[in-house]
Amino acid sequence: MRDHFELRDADAMGRIGSLSVPRAGVTVETPALLPVVNPNIQTIEPARLSEEFGADILITNSYIIRKTEELNERALTEGLHEMLGFDGAIMTDSGSFQLAEYGEIDVTTEEILAFQRDIGSDIATPVDIPTPPDVSREQAEEELGVTAEALADAEAFDAGDSEMLLNAPVQGSTYPDLRERAGRQAAETDLDVFPVGAVVPLMNAYRYDDMVEAVLAAKRGLGPAAPVHLFGAGHPMMFALAAACGCDLFDSAAYALMARDGRYLTVRGTEQFEDLDYFPCSCAVCTEHTPDDLRGMDHRAREDLLAEHNLHVSFAEIRRVKQAIRSGNLLELVEVRARGHPAMLDGYRALLDGASDLEREDPVSKGAFFYTSHESARRPEVLRHRERLARLDVPDRVLLTEDGEPNDHDYDAVWRVVPPFGPFPKSLSDTYPLTAEVPERVDTAAQRAAAEGVAELAEAHPEASLTLSHDGWPAHVLEAVPESVTVETLPKAREREE
Ligand SMILES: [Zn+2]
Repeated sequence: MRDHFELRDADAMGRIGSLSVPRAGVTVETPALLPVVNPNIQTIEPARLSEEFGADILITNSYIIRKTEELNERALTEGLHEMLGFDGAIMTDSGSFQLAEYGEIDVTTEEILAFQRDIGSDIATPVDIPTPPDVSREQAEEELGVTAEALADAEAFDAGDSEMLLNAPVQGSTYPDLRERAGRQAAETDLDVFPVGAVVPLMNAYRYDDMVEAVLAAKRGLGPAAPVHLFGAGHPMMFALAAACGCDLFDSAAYALMARDGRYLTVRGTEQFEDLDYFPCSCAVCTEHTPDDLRGMDHRAREDLLAEHNLHVSFAEIRRVKQAIRSGNLLELVEVRARGHPAMLDGYRALLDGASDLEREDPVSKGAFFYTSHESARRPEVLRHRERLARLDVPDRVLLTEDGEPNDHDYDAVWRVVPPFGPFPKSLSDTYPLTAEVPERVDTAAQRAAAEGVAELAEAHPEASLTLSHDGWPAHVLEAVPESVTVETLPKAREREE
């Protein structure tokens, strides 16, 4: 465990943690959203970010400050906190983004870290290379080598007694093995916070599945103890998904950039403000104004109000994600968000492809499992139950039934079968996740998962004689049940068919 980061509640790979930022004298509860403050254009003043929105950390760009003569001077004499008028923690970026945009920058890691230290940054960033998606493997590996040197320079950097924390970016483009290796190497340093970098092009292209794969790979290398920043992730519709992958910090430039383009953020996606007749939100902006009011305003006033709304909806979603982690229903929230856009559904499905990663960190017991879509059949809890089946003691002759225990039988035991989990003995019926709420009109994905559970039990216990009594499962579901299991249809299912 890194001593400045403590983990408390967990759900899926999501967690509530606290990040101590000693130089600022601030402890940031995670997941946290860092509004991006452009030192040249302050859409919403930093003091308001903390007072009205509850931001206790923000991010700004030290490269721009260093390049801009007036800001450079003020930052060095007044310090960053005084200059921005913000008492919370301030993270600074290094110019890596400009490097990626323009091909070169005129500063080394050592120089930019020294500048960040001198202006009073609380969390500083070296000059890494944000390798974009889909480049050749050679390029990704070569640039990862340069990023590794930047991390080594950052490790060697003398922050004096400033207590400034340091970022260790994790790159690797769209190569999961490189992301994993980069994560492992970053975790081996004594650096402090771990941004997963260069995922913005993936998010802009709605490639949420590739984003999830990049994050899960980086997390495999980083391990659970590292605080992870999903760098450039500012759209509220993906906070739940990213938090479920184990991301702790997000930063939003989107609230201001989108407002400039007349875009209105919601947890289900982005709306063009011009298309709206109603505001589907209860923040101060949306309750005090109608879209028509805003249309009557000058451009600047409208942009400011849209930015305020965008930020409100973003912070509200962060709080919702935290409460979901606390209540143990983060995956239910992810399922809801996955319905907002097909690309989000791809992202959720990619997360479920990594169910074994999730299963390692998902708490054994939570509130209640709600089966709300056929993707629920692939949740880590289902996987874990299936693995548990292999370890259970099984009597010689067992009836596995979707119905109650028959009045008259000569089995040694009667076990319930509940889609999507499959069979389990009575002794487990009050334990999570077998207390799940499953719809009456069960779908074939849940039945299929239950059939696979029966198969798991049969394979792990070939000596047991198993009979499955199912409630009218179709042939393609029953295909998953091995021939060694006797299969019969419940009388009530037979009656329904007649
Ligand atoms: Zn609003």
